[in-house]
Order: sequence, then C-alpha cells, then structure tokens
Amino acid sequence: MVQRVGVVGYPIGHSISPAIHQAAFDALGIAARYERWAVPPADLAAWVASLREPNTLGANVTVPHKEAVVPLLDELSPTARAIGAVNTIVQIGGRLSGDNTDAAGFLRALEEVGGVPRGGAVVLLGAGGAARAVAYALLQAGVGTLAIFNRHADRARALAAALQPYARGPVAAFPLDAPQRAQWLADCALLVNTTSVGLHGGERLLAPEEVPAQALVVDIIYNPPQTPLLADAARRGARTLNGLPMLVYQAALAFERWTGQQPPLDRMFAAARAALS
Ligand code: NDP
Repeated sequence: MVQRVGVVGYPIGHSISPAIHQAAFDALGIAARYERWAVPPADLAAWVASLREPNTLGANVTVPHKEAVVPLLDELSPTARAIGAVNTIVQIGGRLSGDNTDAAGFLRALEEVGGVPRGGAVVLLGAGGAARAVAYALLQAGVGTLAIFNRHADRARALAAALQPYARGPVAAFPLDAPQRAQWLADCALLVNTTSVGLHGGERLLAPEEVPAQALVVDIIYNPPQTPLLADAARRGARTLNGLPMLVYQAALAFERWTGQQPPLDRMFAAARAALS
C-alpha cells in the first residue's frame, strides 16, 4: 500500500517540500507519495481529521496553519509546545503528534558554519513564526544574550516574554528602527534575519554599512539564495549562511520521524537545489 504524506498550507504552490521528500522516499525505496494540500483555514479541522486514516504517515505544516493546528492534535513535543507552532505531524495508530523541526533544523544548519558562536550577543530580525523557532533554538543552545528587533515592536515584546523562561539572560525587544540597533549590531557575534524582507528584489532592512563584519550573518530565506543582506555581509567580509540548509535539515528530521530511517541528505539537498534552479 502506498503511504500518504504531504505539506499543508494556503497557498501552497511555492513549496519545494514535495521535491525534497519525494526524492528521499524514492532513494530509500519507500512506497509513499508526498502531496501538496491547499487547505483554507475554514477546512483545517476536517483536513486534520483525515490524517487519522491508517495509510497516512503524517504531514508538514506551513503558513498560515502552524499555530492553528496545535489545538487539533492529540499531543505535542516539548519543542512544539514551547514554540507554540507545529511544522510536522506524525500519525501512529490514529493518534496525531505535533512536533517542530524548524528549531533543530536551524541549529543543524548552523553546525555547517561552526555552530552557535560562543561568547557574543545574537541579534534577531523579525518576530513571526520562523523567528519563534529560531529564537527558541538559540536559547536552548545556550545563547545568553538575545535582542529581537521587529517592525511591530509589540510582536517582538510578546516573543521575548514568551521565551524568557527558556533564557539564561534577558531577552531584549525593540522596534526595528530603535536607536539601540547600531550598538547591538556592532557587538553581536550572530545576526539572523527571519523576516521576509529580501524575498523580492533588492529590499533590505539594514544599510550595507550597518551589516556587522565581525558576525556570522544568517538569512533563513532560501530563494533567492543570496539576499541583499547576505550580499552586503559577504562584501564586508562576514561569514554567511542562507536558508537552504535549514530547510533541508528540518525536512530530514520530519522524514526521520515518519519513517524511522536515516534520511538520504545528499539526495534531499540535490532535489532542493534542482527545484530552485
Ligand atoms: P511571518 O509572516 O510569520 O513573519 C514575517 C516577519 O517578517 C515578521 O517579523 C514581519 O514583521 C516581518 N516583515 C514582513 N515584511 C516586512 C517589512 N516590509 N519590513 C519589516 N519587516 C517585515 O513569516 P514566517 O516567520 O513564517 O517566515 C519568514 C521568512 O522565513 C520567510 O521568508 C520564509 O520563507 C522564511 N522561512 C524559512 C525557513 C527555512 O527552513 N529556511 C522556514 C520558515 C520560514 P511584523 O511582525 O512587523 O509584520
């Protein structure tokens, strides 16, 4: 019997998850079909119920459903509970378990460039869904000093308050254009962009000369592969990382949860790059 699995979102046409996962299933000879499910918010509960069918492995969840699925599931991993969002659902015996592999995927990606920098502050741009996972991951990894800058400052403050229990030191929150930004950027060891600014054209949040040359600069956007932020960082001599490794590692962790097998990472990276080319 062919197993059913897929990604749910609304809209969902942009997702390259089907390419990444189908390549992995095919490489291991697992009879599974990874689908793309466009489900409007009003139909989410009925769609979640359909995952309880026996031939379903589970699902990936993306915008705008990551938070809305939480109350519809039977159990949550500690990570999903702390983040308040689910990107992976696993079905076993009719029960639905929610996890969030974005956090571990982000940390695994950072390992490719030496891991979380020790002994320096982290500046996070953004306070949306991805920011929640990235900030939680960094605090779990032991980051002591974190500052969140967001266009809507109330969102930054809410995220800082929600994550404070997981932090060793204070989590600071500022509006994007706060005067404190210059000092934080000058002192930080890691800068992570989790906003969607950079997805289109030449848009940037920071002036090129503000981008910290001493820091590791990460943009979790994977398309385009080099955002204006990463181009500015490279020009200033900073180390950089784009969002592709995070995307593939969060997928690999979900694949492992569904199948219990080691994900074929090389095939998943190749499929992701091919889908983006
Ligand atoms: P959300 O909609 O939840 O959050 C969007 C964030 O971007 C908010 O902080 C928002 O600020 C900010 N933002 C949007 N437009 C502007 C603007 N014009 N100026 C300043 N800030 C702006 O989205 P997600 O968190 O789900 O996704 C964010 C990005 O992360 C996307 O580009 C997505 O592709 C990427 N991503 C990558 C992943 C990976 O595996 N590599 C995984 C998940 C996401 P405000 O709150 O003020 O509106």
